[in-house]
Amino acid sequence: AVRAGVLVTGDEVLEGSTVDRNGPWLAQRLLDLGFEVAGIAICGDRLEDIISELDYFAARGCALVVTSGGLGPTDDDRTVEAVARFCQRPLSLDSDLEQKIAERLRAAAKRWRRFDETALQRSNRKQALVPQGATTLDPVGTAPGLVVSVAETGRSSPVVVVLPGPPRELKPLFERALETPPLRALLTRTRPLSRRTLRFFGIPESQLAAAVRELADAIDGYQQLRIGSYVHRGELDLVIRYPTSAEGAAEALAEALAERFPRQLFSRDGRTLDELVAEALAGRSVATAESCTGGLVGARLTARPGSSAYFRGAIVAYDNAVKVRELGVSEATLAAHGAVSQEVAEAMAQGVARALAAELAVSVTGIAGPEGGTPEKPVGTVWIGGWDGAGACAARLWLPGDRAEVRERATTAALHLLLA
Ligand code: ATP
Ligand code: MG
Repeated sequence: AVRAGVLVTGDEVLEGSTVDRNGPWLAQRLLDLGFEVAGIAICGDRLEDIISELDYFAARGCALVVTSGGLGPTDDDRTVEAVARFCQRPLSLDSDLEQKIAERLRAAAKRWRRFDETALQRSNRKQALVPQGATTLDPVGTAPGLVVSVAETGRSSPVVVVLPGPPRELKPLFERALETPPLRALLTRTRPLSRRTLRFFGIPESQLAAAVRELADAIDGYQQLRIGSYVHRGELDLVIRYPTSAEGAAEALAEALAERFPRQLFSRDGRTLDELVAEALAGRSVATAESCTGGLVGARLTARPGSSAYFRGAIVAYDNAVKVRELGVSEATLAAHGAVSQEVAEAMAQGVARALAAELAVSVTGIAGPEGGTPEKPVGTVWIGGWDGAGACAARLWLPGDRAEVRERATTAALHLLLA
Protein backbone atom coordinates (compact mmCIF):
# COMPACT_ATOMS: atom_id res chain seq x y z
CA ALA A 1 0.00 0.00 0.00
CA VAL A 2 1.11 3.55 -0.63
CA ARG A 3 1.21 5.42 2.67
CA ALA A 4 0.37 9.05 3.29
CA GLY A 5 0.48 11.32 6.32
CA VAL A 6 -1.40 14.48 7.25
CA LEU A 7 0.31 17.26 9.19
CA VAL A 8 -1.90 19.96 10.62
CA THR A 9 0.06 22.98 11.82
CA GLY A 10 -0.92 26.00 13.83
CA ASP A 11 -0.67 27.13 17.44
CA GLU A 12 -4.38 27.89 17.41
CA VAL A 13 -5.20 24.26 16.60
CA LEU A 14 -2.76 23.00 19.20
CA GLU A 15 -4.29 25.26 21.81
CA GLY A 16 -7.79 24.17 20.92
CA SER A 17 -9.06 27.59 19.86
CA THR A 18 -9.53 26.30 16.30
CA VAL A 19 -11.01 22.84 15.97
CA ASP A 20 -9.17 20.93 13.26
CA ARG A 21 -11.40 20.30 10.28
CA ASN A 22 -8.64 19.78 7.73
CA GLY A 23 -7.05 16.65 9.16
CA PRO A 24 -10.21 14.50 8.99
CA TRP A 25 -11.17 15.88 5.59
CA LEU A 26 -7.74 15.18 4.10
CA ALA A 27 -7.60 11.71 5.67
CA GLN A 28 -10.95 10.83 4.10
CA ARG A 29 -9.92 12.07 0.66
CA LEU A 30 -6.63 10.19 0.87
CA LEU A 31 -8.42 6.99 1.84
CA ASP A 32 -10.85 7.40 -1.06
CA LEU A 33 -7.88 7.86 -3.38
CA GLY A 34 -6.51 4.53 -2.14
CA PHE A 35 -3.72 5.69 0.15
CA GLU A 36 -3.13 4.07 3.50
CA VAL A 37 -3.23 6.92 6.01
CA ALA A 38 -0.34 6.54 8.46
CA GLY A 39 -1.58 9.25 10.78
CA ILE A 40 -2.77 12.75 11.38
CA ALA A 41 -0.29 14.83 13.36
CA ILE A 42 -0.89 18.23 14.86
CA CYS A 43 1.94 20.55 15.76
CA GLY A 44 2.44 24.23 16.51
CA ASP A 45 4.13 26.84 14.37
CA ARG A 46 7.67 25.90 15.44
CA LEU A 47 10.09 25.31 12.59
CA GLU A 48 11.90 22.39 14.30
CA ASP A 49 8.64 20.68 15.22
CA ILE A 50 7.31 20.84 11.69
CA ILE A 51 10.54 19.39 10.32
CA SER A 52 10.59 16.57 12.87
CA GLU A 53 6.97 15.68 12.11
CA LEU A 54 7.92 15.45 8.42
CA ASP A 55 10.89 13.26 9.35
CA TYR A 56 8.59 11.09 11.41
CA PHE A 57 6.20 10.50 8.50
CA ALA A 58 9.20 9.77 6.24
CA ALA A 59 10.44 7.22 8.78
CA ARG A 60 7.04 5.53 8.68
CA GLY A 61 7.38 4.99 4.96
CA CYS A 62 5.04 7.69 3.71
CA ALA A 63 5.25 8.52 0.03
CA LEU A 64 3.15 11.63 0.58
CA VAL A 65 2.62 14.15 3.35
CA VAL A 66 -0.07 16.82 3.11
CA THR A 67 0.32 19.83 5.39
CA SER A 68 -2.30 22.36 6.45
CA GLY A 69 -1.73 25.92 7.63
CA GLY A 70 1.12 28.29 8.21
CA LEU A 71 1.31 29.87 4.75
CA GLY A 72 0.33 33.38 5.76
CA PRO A 73 2.41 36.52 5.34
CA THR A 74 3.29 36.90 9.02
CA ASP A 75 6.46 35.69 10.69
CA ASP A 76 4.70 33.07 12.76
CA ASP A 77 3.79 31.15 9.61
CA ARG A 78 6.76 28.81 9.14
CA THR A 79 5.53 25.83 7.16
CA VAL A 80 7.09 26.73 3.80
CA GLU A 81 10.47 27.30 5.37
CA ALA A 82 10.23 23.99 7.23
CA VAL A 83 9.25 22.07 4.09
CA ALA A 84 12.06 23.74 2.12
CA ARG A 85 14.57 22.56 4.72
CA PHE A 86 13.08 19.09 4.87
CA CYS A 87 13.25 18.78 1.08
CA GLN A 88 16.68 20.43 1.01
CA ARG A 89 15.61 23.10 -1.42
CA PRO A 90 16.55 26.75 -0.94
CA LEU A 91 13.77 29.31 -1.00
CA SER A 92 13.63 31.54 -4.03
CA LEU A 93 11.34 34.31 -5.15
CA ASP A 94 8.74 33.32 -7.73
CA SER A 95 8.07 36.66 -9.41
CA ASP A 96 5.05 35.44 -11.39
CA LEU A 97 3.52 34.32 -8.14
CA GLU A 98 4.46 37.59 -6.46
CA GLN A 99 2.59 39.38 -9.22
CA LYS A 100 -0.49 37.22 -8.80
CA ILE A 101 -0.60 37.65 -5.05
CA ALA A 102 -0.11 41.42 -5.40
CA GLU A 103 -3.10 41.65 -7.72
CA ARG A 104 -5.30 39.74 -5.34
CA LEU A 105 -4.20 41.77 -2.34
CA ARG A 106 -4.71 45.02 -4.21
CA ALA A 107 -8.23 44.03 -5.19
CA ALA A 108 -9.04 43.02 -1.62
CA ALA A 109 -7.43 46.14 -0.12
CA LYS A 110 -9.43 48.43 -2.39
CA ARG A 111 -12.61 46.80 -1.25
CA TRP A 112 -11.66 47.57 2.32
CA ARG A 113 -10.70 51.16 1.44
CA ARG A 114 -7.20 50.98 2.80
CA PHE A 115 -4.24 50.52 0.63
CA ASP A 116 -0.72 50.57 1.93
CA GLU A 117 1.39 49.54 -1.02
CA THR A 118 4.65 49.02 0.87
CA ALA A 119 3.09 46.93 3.62
CA LEU A 120 1.46 44.81 0.98
CA GLN A 121 4.69 44.32 -0.89
CA ARG A 122 6.51 43.29 2.23
CA SER A 123 3.93 40.70 3.19
CA ASN A 124 3.26 39.29 -0.22
CA ARG A 125 6.96 38.91 -0.96
CA LYS A 126 7.16 36.33 1.81
CA GLN A 127 4.27 34.34 0.33
CA ALA A 128 6.02 34.33 -3.06
CA LEU A 129 9.12 32.69 -1.60
CA VAL A 130 8.91 29.05 -2.61
CA PRO A 131 11.26 26.09 -2.41
CA GLN A 132 13.24 25.82 -5.64
CA GLY A 133 11.71 23.35 -8.06
CA ALA A 134 8.33 23.34 -6.30
CA THR A 135 5.11 23.34 -8.27
CA THR A 136 2.89 26.20 -7.17
CA LEU A 137 -0.86 25.90 -7.10
CA ASP A 138 -2.67 29.13 -7.89
CA PRO A 139 -4.06 30.67 -4.72
CA VAL A 140 -7.76 30.60 -3.90
CA GLY A 141 -7.23 33.20 -1.14
CA THR A 142 -3.81 34.78 -1.11
CA ALA A 143 -1.68 31.81 -0.09
CA PRO A 144 -0.64 29.49 -2.93
CA GLY A 145 -0.41 25.76 -2.41
CA LEU A 146 2.86 23.98 -3.12
CA VAL A 147 3.93 20.54 -4.23
CA VAL A 148 7.53 19.88 -3.24
CA SER A 149 9.66 16.82 -3.68
CA VAL A 150 13.02 16.23 -2.11
CA ALA A 151 16.06 17.58 -3.99
CA GLU A 152 18.58 14.88 -3.28
CA THR A 153 18.19 12.02 -5.70
CA GLY A 154 18.37 8.53 -4.31
CA ARG A 155 16.95 9.48 -0.95
CA SER A 156 13.50 8.02 -0.63
CA SER A 157 11.39 10.73 0.84
CA PRO A 158 7.78 11.79 0.67
CA VAL A 159 6.36 14.31 -1.74
CA VAL A 160 5.01 17.17 0.37
CA VAL A 161 1.81 19.00 -0.55
CA VAL A 162 1.64 22.29 1.32
CA LEU A 163 -1.84 23.82 1.72
CA PRO A 164 -3.21 26.91 3.49
CA GLY A 165 -5.21 26.53 6.71
CA PRO A 166 -8.64 27.99 5.84
CA PRO A 167 -10.75 24.96 4.80
CA ARG A 168 -12.38 26.73 1.86
CA GLU A 169 -8.90 27.37 0.42
CA LEU A 170 -7.40 24.02 1.37
CA LYS A 171 -10.02 21.84 -0.28
CA PRO A 172 -9.88 23.19 -3.85
CA LEU A 173 -6.08 23.45 -3.71
CA PHE A 174 -5.84 19.80 -2.67
CA GLU A 175 -7.86 18.81 -5.73
CA ARG A 176 -5.53 20.93 -7.88
CA ALA A 177 -2.50 19.27 -6.33
CA LEU A 178 -3.80 15.89 -7.53
CA GLU A 179 -3.34 17.09 -11.12
CA THR A 180 0.39 17.80 -10.71
CA PRO A 181 2.97 15.31 -12.08
CA PRO A 182 4.35 14.12 -8.71
CA LEU A 183 0.84 13.30 -7.45
CA ARG A 184 -0.25 11.75 -10.73
CA ALA A 185 2.77 9.47 -10.48
CA LEU A 186 1.79 8.42 -6.95
CA LEU A 187 -1.82 7.87 -7.94
CA THR A 188 -0.84 5.32 -10.57
CA ARG A 189 0.31 3.17 -7.63
CA THR A 190 -2.84 3.45 -5.49
CA ARG A 191 -6.12 1.68 -5.86
CA PRO A 192 -8.99 4.13 -5.44
CA LEU A 193 -11.71 2.97 -3.11
CA SER A 194 -15.40 3.60 -3.36
CA ARG A 195 -17.32 4.32 -0.23
CA ARG A 196 -20.71 3.09 0.83
CA THR A 197 -22.39 4.27 4.00
CA LEU A 198 -25.15 2.32 5.72
CA ARG A 199 -26.96 4.23 8.45
CA PHE A 200 -28.55 2.52 11.44
CA PHE A 201 -30.70 3.74 14.29
CA GLY A 202 -31.56 1.91 17.46
CA ILE A 203 -28.83 -0.70 17.49
CA PRO A 204 -25.64 -0.76 19.58
CA GLU A 205 -22.28 -0.75 17.84
CA SER A 206 -21.24 -4.08 19.38
CA GLN A 207 -24.32 -5.83 18.02
CA LEU A 208 -23.68 -4.53 14.52
CA ALA A 209 -20.01 -5.54 14.72
CA ALA A 210 -21.00 -9.07 15.81
CA ALA A 211 -23.47 -9.35 12.92
CA VAL A 212 -20.83 -8.22 10.41
CA ARG A 213 -18.39 -10.81 11.76
CA GLU A 214 -20.98 -13.56 11.45
CA LEU A 215 -21.85 -12.61 7.89
CA ALA A 216 -18.24 -12.31 6.74
CA ASP A 217 -17.64 -15.99 5.88
CA ALA A 218 -20.64 -16.19 3.59
CA ILE A 219 -19.53 -13.19 1.52
CA ASP A 220 -17.21 -13.72 -1.39
CA GLY A 221 -14.44 -11.11 -1.43
CA TYR A 222 -15.17 -9.90 2.11
CA GLN A 223 -11.41 -9.64 2.76
CA GLN A 224 -11.15 -6.79 0.29
CA LEU A 225 -13.62 -4.63 2.22
CA ARG A 226 -12.43 -2.05 4.72
CA ILE A 227 -15.13 -1.52 7.28
CA GLY A 228 -15.49 1.09 9.98
CA SER A 229 -18.38 2.07 12.22
CA TYR A 230 -19.04 5.46 13.74
CA VAL A 231 -21.57 6.63 16.30
CA HIS A 232 -22.87 10.15 16.06
CA ARG A 233 -26.00 11.96 17.19
CA GLY A 234 -27.43 8.66 18.37
CA GLU A 235 -27.07 7.02 14.98
CA LEU A 236 -24.60 4.39 13.86
CA ASP A 237 -22.89 4.60 10.47
CA LEU A 238 -21.20 1.64 8.87
CA VAL A 239 -18.74 2.81 6.23
CA ILE A 240 -17.62 0.19 3.72
CA ARG A 241 -14.67 1.08 1.48
CA TYR A 242 -13.98 -1.19 -1.43
CA PRO A 243 -11.99 -1.41 -4.65
CA THR A 244 -14.05 -1.75 -7.84
CA SER A 245 -13.29 -5.47 -7.90
CA ALA A 246 -15.11 -5.93 -4.59
CA GLU A 247 -18.26 -4.00 -5.42
CA GLY A 248 -20.25 -7.25 -5.31
CA ALA A 249 -19.01 -8.03 -1.81
CA ALA A 250 -20.01 -4.57 -0.57
CA GLU A 251 -23.45 -5.01 -2.11
CA ALA A 252 -23.82 -8.48 -0.59
CA LEU A 253 -22.92 -7.19 2.86
CA ALA A 254 -25.41 -4.31 2.55
CA GLU A 255 -28.07 -6.78 1.41
CA ALA A 256 -27.42 -9.19 4.27
CA LEU A 257 -27.48 -6.40 6.87
CA ALA A 258 -30.73 -5.05 5.45
CA GLU A 259 -32.24 -8.47 5.92
CA ARG A 260 -30.89 -8.83 9.44
CA PHE A 261 -31.87 -5.32 10.59
CA PRO A 262 -34.86 -4.29 8.48
CA ARG A 263 -36.10 -1.73 11.00
CA GLN A 264 -32.78 -0.31 12.13
CA LEU A 265 -31.10 0.15 8.74
CA PHE A 266 -32.77 3.33 7.55
CA SER A 267 -30.37 4.45 4.81
CA ARG A 268 -28.53 2.17 2.40
CA ASP A 269 -27.21 4.79 0.01
CA GLY A 270 -25.57 7.28 2.34
CA ARG A 271 -28.48 9.69 2.42
CA THR A 272 -28.83 11.31 5.84
CA LEU A 273 -31.77 11.26 8.20
CA ASP A 274 -32.47 14.91 7.44
CA GLU A 275 -32.61 14.27 3.69
CA LEU A 276 -34.86 11.25 4.10
CA VAL A 277 -37.21 13.10 6.44
CA ALA A 278 -37.50 15.97 3.99
CA GLU A 279 -38.38 13.46 1.30
CA ALA A 280 -40.93 11.68 3.48
CA LEU A 281 -42.61 14.98 4.32
CA ALA A 282 -43.01 16.12 0.73
CA GLY A 283 -46.64 17.01 0.10
CA ARG A 284 -47.52 16.78 3.79
CA SER A 285 -47.45 19.16 6.74
CA VAL A 286 -45.82 18.77 10.12
CA ALA A 287 -45.55 20.61 13.43
CA THR A 288 -43.49 19.98 16.54
CA ALA A 289 -44.29 20.34 20.24
CA GLU A 290 -41.08 20.50 22.19
CA SER A 291 -40.31 20.54 25.85
CA CYS A 292 -36.77 19.41 26.71
CA THR A 293 -35.45 19.97 23.17
CA GLY A 294 -36.50 23.61 23.28
CA GLY A 295 -37.03 23.89 19.52
CA LEU A 296 -34.11 21.74 18.31
CA VAL A 297 -36.40 19.52 16.24
CA GLY A 298 -37.81 22.56 14.48
CA ALA A 299 -34.29 23.87 14.01
CA ARG A 300 -33.15 20.61 12.37
CA LEU A 301 -36.20 20.60 10.09
CA THR A 302 -35.73 24.22 9.05
CA ALA A 303 -32.00 23.75 8.46
CA ARG A 304 -32.98 22.37 5.07
CA PRO A 305 -33.86 24.81 2.32
CA GLY A 306 -37.40 24.26 1.09
CA SER A 307 -38.68 23.17 4.49
CA SER A 308 -41.43 25.81 4.38
CA ALA A 309 -43.26 23.46 2.02
CA TYR A 310 -44.05 21.08 4.88
CA PHE A 311 -43.00 22.58 8.22
CA ARG A 312 -45.80 24.57 9.89
CA GLY A 313 -43.97 25.52 13.05
CA ALA A 314 -42.97 24.54 16.56
CA ILE A 315 -44.49 25.24 19.92
CA VAL A 316 -41.86 25.20 22.61
CA ALA A 317 -43.95 24.24 25.61
CA TYR A 318 -41.29 24.15 28.28
CA ASP A 319 -43.49 25.17 31.16
CA ASN A 320 -46.45 22.98 32.06
CA ALA A 321 -48.78 25.98 31.91
CA VAL A 322 -47.80 26.41 28.25
CA LYS A 323 -48.51 22.74 27.60
CA VAL A 324 -52.00 23.34 28.96
CA ARG A 325 -52.71 26.71 27.39
CA GLU A 326 -51.14 26.29 23.94
CA LEU A 327 -51.35 22.54 23.40
CA GLY A 328 -54.51 21.70 25.26
CA VAL A 329 -52.87 19.11 27.51
CA SER A 330 -55.29 18.64 30.43
CA GLU A 331 -54.25 19.56 33.95
CA ALA A 332 -55.59 16.24 35.11
CA THR A 333 -53.31 14.30 32.74
CA LEU A 334 -50.30 16.30 33.89
CA ALA A 335 -51.19 15.73 37.53
CA ALA A 336 -51.83 12.02 37.09
CA HIS A 337 -48.82 11.06 34.95
CA GLY A 338 -46.32 13.92 35.15
CA ALA A 339 -45.02 15.95 32.22
CA VAL A 340 -42.62 13.19 31.17
CA SER A 341 -45.13 10.48 30.29
CA GLN A 342 -46.73 8.68 27.40
CA GLU A 343 -50.04 10.45 27.98
CA VAL A 344 -48.53 13.94 27.89
CA ALA A 345 -46.30 13.16 24.88
CA GLU A 346 -49.34 11.97 22.94
CA ALA A 347 -51.47 14.92 24.01
CA MET A 348 -48.69 17.35 23.04
CA ALA A 349 -48.42 15.85 19.54
CA GLN A 350 -52.16 15.90 18.98
CA GLY A 351 -52.42 19.38 20.47
CA VAL A 352 -49.77 20.97 18.26
CA ALA A 353 -51.24 19.36 15.15
CA ARG A 354 -54.54 21.03 15.98
CA ALA A 355 -53.03 24.36 17.04
CA LEU A 356 -50.90 24.72 13.92
CA ALA A 357 -53.23 22.95 11.49
CA ALA A 358 -50.69 20.27 10.61
CA GLU A 359 -51.39 16.80 9.32
CA LEU A 360 -48.51 15.23 11.27
CA ALA A 361 -46.83 16.13 14.51
CA VAL A 362 -44.05 15.00 16.79
CA SER A 363 -43.51 15.90 20.40
CA VAL A 364 -40.66 15.58 22.86
CA THR A 365 -40.86 15.62 26.63
CA GLY A 366 -38.05 14.39 28.83
CA ILE A 367 -35.49 14.95 31.53
CA ALA A 368 -32.28 16.31 30.00
CA GLY A 369 -30.52 16.70 33.35
CA PRO A 370 -28.23 17.04 35.09
CA GLU A 371 -30.89 17.61 37.77
CA GLY A 372 -34.52 16.55 37.94
CA GLY A 373 -34.19 12.78 37.67
CA THR A 374 -36.02 10.38 39.97
CA PRO A 375 -35.62 6.61 40.45
CA GLU A 376 -38.67 5.99 38.19
CA LYS A 377 -37.70 8.67 35.68
CA PRO A 378 -33.90 9.04 35.69
CA VAL A 379 -32.08 11.74 33.72
CA GLY A 380 -32.22 10.73 30.07
CA THR A 381 -35.84 9.54 30.21
CA VAL A 382 -37.51 10.96 27.11
CA TRP A 383 -40.92 10.35 25.58
CA ILE A 384 -41.32 10.99 21.88
CA GLY A 385 -44.92 11.38 20.76
CA GLY A 386 -46.42 11.24 17.31
CA TRP A 387 -49.72 12.19 15.68
CA ASP A 388 -50.66 11.10 12.16
CA GLY A 389 -54.10 12.65 11.78
CA ALA A 390 -55.89 9.55 13.02
CA GLY A 391 -54.19 8.59 16.22
CA ALA A 392 -51.36 9.23 18.62
CA CYS A 393 -48.45 7.06 19.68
CA ALA A 394 -45.44 7.48 21.90
CA ALA A 395 -42.17 5.74 22.66
CA ARG A 396 -39.97 5.96 25.71
CA LEU A 397 -36.22 6.24 25.45
CA TRP A 398 -33.45 6.15 28.02
CA LEU A 399 -30.78 8.29 26.49
CA PRO A 400 -27.17 8.29 27.70
CA GLY A 401 -24.94 11.32 27.96
CA ASP A 402 -24.93 14.81 29.34
CA ARG A 403 -27.61 17.44 28.84
CA ALA A 404 -26.45 18.40 25.34
CA GLU A 405 -26.22 14.78 24.22
CA VAL A 406 -29.63 13.86 25.62
CA ARG A 407 -31.21 16.80 23.80
CA GLU A 408 -29.44 15.98 20.55
CA ARG A 409 -30.32 12.29 20.69
CA ALA A 410 -33.93 13.13 21.54
CA THR A 411 -34.03 15.39 18.49
CA THR A 412 -32.68 12.61 16.29
CA ALA A 413 -35.22 10.18 17.72
CA ALA A 414 -38.09 12.60 17.02
CA LEU A 415 -37.00 12.89 13.39
CA HIS A 416 -36.85 9.10 13.12
CA LEU A 417 -40.45 8.94 14.19
CA LEU A 418 -41.28 11.07 11.16
CA LEU A 419 -39.60 8.46 8.94
CA ALA A 420 -41.59 5.60 10.39
P1 ATP B 1 -3.63 32.59 6.02
O1 ATP B 1 -2.94 33.14 4.85
O2 ATP B 1 -5.14 32.75 5.95
O3 ATP B 1 -3.06 33.00 7.34
P2 ATP B 1 -2.46 30.08 6.65
O4 ATP B 1 -2.08 28.97 5.76
O5 ATP B 1 -1.36 30.83 7.31
O6 ATP B 1 -3.45 31.02 5.87
P3 ATP B 1 -3.31 29.61 9.26
O7 ATP B 1 -2.73 30.91 9.65
O8 ATP B 1 -2.69 28.40 9.82
O9 ATP B 1 -3.38 29.45 7.71
O10 ATP B 1 -4.87 29.60 9.57
C1 ATP B 1 -5.71 30.63 9.07
C2 ATP B 1 -7.13 30.35 9.52
O11 ATP B 1 -7.62 29.20 8.88
C3 ATP B 1 -7.28 30.04 11.00
O12 ATP B 1 -7.42 31.20 11.76
C4 ATP B 1 -8.50 29.18 11.03
O13 ATP B 1 -9.66 29.98 10.99
C5 ATP B 1 -8.42 28.42 9.75
N1 ATP B 1 -7.75 27.14 9.98
C6 ATP B 1 -6.44 26.91 10.00
N2 ATP B 1 -6.17 25.61 10.24
C7 ATP B 1 -7.36 25.01 10.37
C8 ATP B 1 -7.77 23.66 10.63
N3 ATP B 1 -6.87 22.67 10.78
N4 ATP B 1 -9.08 23.40 10.69
C9 ATP B 1 -10.00 24.38 10.52
N5 ATP B 1 -9.67 25.66 10.29
C10 ATP B 1 -8.39 25.98 10.20
MG1 MG C 1 -1.64 32.43 8.96
